[in-house]
Amino acid sequence: MSPDSNRPDRIVVVGASLAGARAVHSIRSAGHDGMLTLIGAEPHLPYDRPPLSKDFLTGERDADALMLDPPGAYDEIGAKVMLGTTATGLNLDARTVAVETDGPNSGEQVPFDALVIATGASARPLPGTEGLDGVHTLRTLDDATAIREGLTAGARVAVVGGGFIGSEVAASAKARGCEVTVIEAASAPLVRGLGAEMGSLVGALHGRNNVELRLGVGVEGVLGADRVEAVTMADGTRIEADLVVVGIGVVPNTAWLAGSGLHIDNGVVCDATLCAGPPGIYAVGDVVRAPNAWLGGGAIRVEHWTAAVEHGMTVGQNVVDPQRAIPYDSVPFVWSDQYDARIQIAGHPDAGDDVEVLVGSAADDSFLAGYRRDGRLSAVMSVNAIRPFVRFRRLLASHPSWDDALELAATLA
Ligand SMILES: Cc1cc2nc3c(=O)[nH]c(=O)nc-3n(C[C@H](O)[C@H](O)[C@H](O)COP(=O)(O)OP(=O)(O)OC[C@H]3O[C@@H](n4cnc5c(N)ncnc54)[C@H](O)[C@@H]3O)c2cc1C
Repeated sequence: MSPDSNRPDRIVVVGASLAGARAVHSIRSAGHDGMLTLIGAEPHLPYDRPPLSKDFLTGERDADALMLDPPGAYDEIGAKVMLGTTATGLNLDARTVAVETDGPNSGEQVPFDALVIATGASARPLPGTEGLDGVHTLRTLDDATAIREGLTAGARVAVVGGGFIGSEVAASAKARGCEVTVIEAASAPLVRGLGAEMGSLVGALHGRNNVELRLGVGVEGVLGADRVEAVTMADGTRIEADLVVVGIGVVPNTAWLAGSGLHIDNGVVCDATLCAGPPGIYAVGDVVRAPNAWLGGGAIRVEHWTAAVEHGMTVGQNVVDPQRAIPYDSVPFVWSDQYDARIQIAGHPDAGDDVEVLVGSAADDSFLAGYRRDGRLSAVMSVNAIRPFVRFRRLLASHPSWDDALELAATLA
């Protein structure tokens, strides 16, 4: 620490992806001129994940175009980057992070005055399929590269899980000429994110694009000796497959923090300023569970690109100047591209909300729906309705009533 203030001299960021990268830049922008170190387990500099299920999988974009920063960006701001380096432990008393690498730094203890935890999440595997060729999860550039190689025209692809990632993989595989089946245990895709009504509407995109959708039935197992051959279903049926992509959610990467004394419960539990409790310890991105002032209420964990960016920006200021820490306050936002549809969601839809199309028509595949809770607009979801969406996203920031929403809709009709 600087002797004359609470400002840290040495700041370490663990996790070299979106939230960690944004945190590093924002820490420098906030005036930190001491040591700054970014530690990442992957061999790659920070890259963007959303294209991994979209235009990277279709082959329209290559790995070089995924990088989050121009070459030399970290040298330019004087940040040390340790790639291929996995944090294995945190000692809060000694204020050190233990790291493992294949190289000479293995076993090193990296000291810090302030720490930003940005270790994100890992894809949840389908139990019993680990190590079987042709079965993949999708989280990293290396995962996406392996899947892309298998997406040859005519290949039979089974996608387990009809959430955003699964649906996008299905659309990309179809674009590459594969025969695709999406398997979803719920009654409609995207029920968790959108509710049953909108989930069914969006899920209909699969059928319209000649992708088979198997709903309401779970996967029993995956067959294959050396390589996957088929997926067996709980109803006794079997889906032949050359490639299986599993998209059944993620698990926050907190194992390395076990025994550190931090509160871990579905992520690193933090306060509204993204502080994990002990002074100078923060968490950002998919790994953090923290309140969002816009939502009110308790801590939540989200897996949204925009939140990871905003957390990184918020923490930059908070870690450098903790006396003037600001709470994280933002309307949640997430998008998904599937087939020719851009789906956008702002706010916090809940399964119990009433849903009504406010702009456009679902029949035209261009509409915006509002979610109503206790007389207020809680969220909006749009399909191919970018301009109305922008207006409603802005409106949501002011916690509008349902009447406010109807008023805005009338101006956009
Ligand atoms: C295929 C895909 C498509 C997506 N599409 C969208 C989309 O369309 N819209 C949207 O809003 N969001 C989307 N997302 C979500 C978005 O990409 C994430 O919210 C975002 O990547 C979270 O960033 P993060 O930095 O918190 O975590 P991550 O991106 O998970 O990065 C964490 C990093 O930490 C590293 N790490 C983990 N443990 C350690 C350790 N012990 N030591 C060192 N390093 C470690 C990991 O290797 C990783 O590089 C998508 C995600 C995926 C995977």
